Amino acid sequence: MPAIFLSTTLGSEMQRVYNFSAGPAVFPVPVLERIRDEMLSLPGVGASILEISHRSQPFIDIANDAERRLRQLLSIPEDYAVLFLQGGSRLQFSMIPMNLAGTSQGPATYVVTGAWGKMAAEEATKFGEVAVAYDAKKPYDHLPAQGEVNVPGGAAYVHYTSNETIQGVQFPSDPDFGDAPLVCDASSDFLHRPVDVAKYGLIYACAQKNAGPAGVTVVIVRKALLERSQATLPTYMNFKQHAEADMLNTPPTFAIYALGLIAKWVQEDIGGLAAMHERNKEKASLLYQVIDEFGDFYKGHAQVDARSLMNVTFRLPGEEDEKAFVKGAKERQLTDLKGHRSVGGIRASIYNAMPREGVEALASFMREFAQSRG
Ligand code: PMP
Repeated sequence: MPAIFLSTTLGSEMQRVYNFSAGPAVFPVPVLERIRDEMLSLPGVGASILEISHRSQPFIDIANDAERRLRQLLSIPEDYAVLFLQGGSRLQFSMIPMNLAGTSQGPATYVVTGAWGKMAAEEATKFGEVAVAYDAKKPYDHLPAQGEVNVPGGAAYVHYTSNETIQGVQFPSDPDFGDAPLVCDASSDFLHRPVDVAKYGLIYACAQKNAGPAGVTVVIVRKALLERSQATLPTYMNFKQHAEADMLNTPPTFAIYALGLIAKWVQEDIGGLAAMHERNKEKASLLYQVIDEFGDFYKGHAQVDARSLMNVTFRLPGEEDEKAFVKGAKERQLTDLKGHRSVGGIRASIYNAMPREGVEALASFMREFAQSRG
């Protein structure tokens, strides 16, 4: 029986499924338990995280701790600011060109390997000149080969999506696209492996996949780039004002608290990002092995060297098979496996917090299903 059972304060047992949702997504159980335990009163505070002022010392300590843990995990250099913003990664699709691509800059440049990168590039056209240095084009199943990315001279920045959540296409390491500041949408693979932050101008990630609940988006930006932010920008949209202000507005307090607890879990329970990466590689290989073993039945979407460790995407011979697969999986407490509505098929999102047992349960279901229908 794959499901996890938790004892609750009411003494009854609560059943948890293995949730393969692409986001908001599975949380580490110890973090959920801690949130539950502290929900009525934060230790030493006597009030809930939901009730305290963002200007109160307990919240300032919580936000500082979350930032400190992110800085430790990713070895973020001192000359980078860490911002906790709202508006999701979608808002970054506009904030980034608004701040980094002014009139004195060359084109905002995009490397497009899937649906999210394409949307980011389209949004940027509202603010100025955009160059597409590479477009993998539909069905978005691969990465650029060596020498295929043509960045125009003087580009304001080069934006790419480290993990395309819908297609399940991921860069296995930090790419090198030349001298322009590298901007990464790391929404769906943030904190899944060590990253060399110094190679980047800016990294952003909404939290609701690997790093917390919906509501907070982390922006890590090289401070020198803040000089590009024009004073005429709307205040909330201005990176520099966020970095210089002592909290520009009320931040998403609960989401920042939960993000801090997840960072602590990665540090203390998992042992850091290198250990996290090993776990993620092992988990993903359990599913890709089945896909390869039953290659007549399962067709992986991404080409082998572009396979995502976070979102495993594949098709079955027909839509009826896919429907039966999703239904059969759900009967075994394996949920949210339907692929994104724009591409269909199956998508198993196996973020950091998905336990290995959940992936093993899915791999055995996949084997049995292929044997019974193949
Ligand atoms: N980029 C990527 C890679 C994503 O997966 C998502 C959300 N699925 C977004 C951007 C948009 O994030 P949000 O919904 O937080 O605006």
